[in-house]
Amino acid sequence: MCAVCDSNFGLSRRAVLTGVTCVAAAAMAPALLGTVSPAAAQTPVSPAEASQRLADGNARYVGGASRNTDYSVGRAERALGQTPYASIVSCADSRVAPELIFDEGPGDLFVVRIAGNFVNEAGLASLEFGSAVLGSRLIMVLGHTACGAIEATIDVVQNGTELPGHLPSLATALRPGVERAIAEKPADLLAAATAENVRVNVAYLKTAKPIIADLVASGKLDIVGGVYDIATGKVTMV
Ligand SMILES: [Zn+2]
Repeated sequence: MCAVCDSNFGLSRRAVLTGVTCVAAAAMAPALLGTVSPAAAQTPVSPAEASQRLADGNARYVGGASRNTDYSVGRAERALGQTPYASIVSCADSRVAPELIFDEGPGDLFVVRIAGNFVNEAGLASLEFGSAVLGSRLIMVLGHTACGAIEATIDVVQNGTELPGHLPSLATALRPGVERAIAEKPADLLAAATAENVRVNVAYLKTAKPIIADLVASGKLDIVGGVYDIATGKVTMV
């Protein structure tokens, strides 16, 4: 249990980036993951508060009222450790920048990015570290409009198109959500496939034993999904 973070409940994240205790926890990560219940991880916010904070930050971003603009603030404290309050599974798309979308600064979000925003084994391991060791209390799988990876997978599934290089690995990972969307016969297949891909990965994380699923079962972690609209900047929950 991180007494430092716990005692600072309610304070801003930058103010709470104190910790000797948190640094020690991170340094002990391998041992912690192997010997201590992941439920031991503590952070100053609840999953619901983390979700609200993301929503509030996105509202500021959409309204052109972002307040995180000087990223040098808190640099010295960040050198001592990190306690991100939420994790984001985002596409690698250059137009999708989680810290900007949610009006946060360095140290606030634990971000895993890959084209098509899906969770593979290394991504799951990263998220396990983010929550069990660093104490993130929310994971958001974040799809986005006009996703090229989803578009390409639709083309593969519907037309048998062959992708070059290692791109077929992306289509294989994204196929479940795309096939589910095609079965729905939606008016906007790309939008439906984007949302279904998010749902598929949210469901996968909720049952990802032992670490993530156990944290969810204990109420210390929540998994949610959203889609970022590149045109408006708004994140809509799915
Ligand atoms: Zn994308």
